[in-house]
Amino acid sequence: MSAIDLNARASATFAQKLAETEALLKQAAQDYTSRITLACSLGAEDMVLADLVNRLQLDIPIFVLETGQLHPETLALLERLKASSRAPVEVFTPVNESVVEFVSREGKDAMYQSIALRKACCNIRKMEPLGRALAGKDTWITGLRREQSGARAEVPLIDRSEPRVKLNPLANWTWGDVWHYIADNKVDYNPLHDQFYPSIGCAPCTRAISLGEDFRAGRWWWEDEAAKECGLHVKSSSLPEKVSS
Ligand code: SF4
Repeated sequence: MSAIDLNARASATFAQKLAETEALLKQAAQDYTSRITLACSLGAEDMVLADLVNRLQLDIPIFVLETGQLHPETLALLERLKASSRAPVEVFTPVNESVVEFVSREGKDAMYQSIALRKACCNIRKMEPLGRALAGKDTWITGLRREQSGARAEVPLIDRSEPRVKLNPLANWTWGDVWHYIADNKVDYNPLHDQFYPSIGCAPCTRAISLGEDFRAGRWWWEDEAAKECGLHVKSSSLPEKVSS
């Protein structure tokens, strides 16, 4: 059974939510012009946002963090997005010397040894490239949804709590809404979603989930729930210095 068959169930207010999302994206493209960017993890939500940006012909560039640890399915989707997107897609990769030095010092499986080492890996492969992706931007768009986890339950549509404004146009979408949109608009998506991977990150840190497990149970599954963010969406005030850059 595909992820579409399993999940595509629009909520009663879907049409209204979609209209609000489109209005927010159009307004943002108009207000922030060259200072805005869409963070695309290539997950289902971000593919919806990339589709909206392209369908509405908005001048919002897209960036992808290619950590060097993505699944082949995710890399193939990245190539398809680059080939089909009207909006420019820029790929940011980690500094090679930092990766080589970290792996030779801590080993390639360091992320399983401690939360500190896992965060150090995320810092090199995600946070430092994210800093470059956001340089010169004062607004970024993400696919965060309140339903994704307890830590994200309060995600606002527009987050002005940090110096850089974060827009979360899908904040109140359900997982069913996401898949309804994907089915309705024939959006390309990662085939891993058809194999019970609702949330897809780096290959060593993502597994399929079983029926009844939480949405993000397959991410960093060996850690406590509270630690399960890579730093991308953690308030800078609550981050250790080395992760908050
Ligand atoms: S998700 Fe895992 S492999 Fe990817 S950067 Fe973080 S620790 Fe490293």
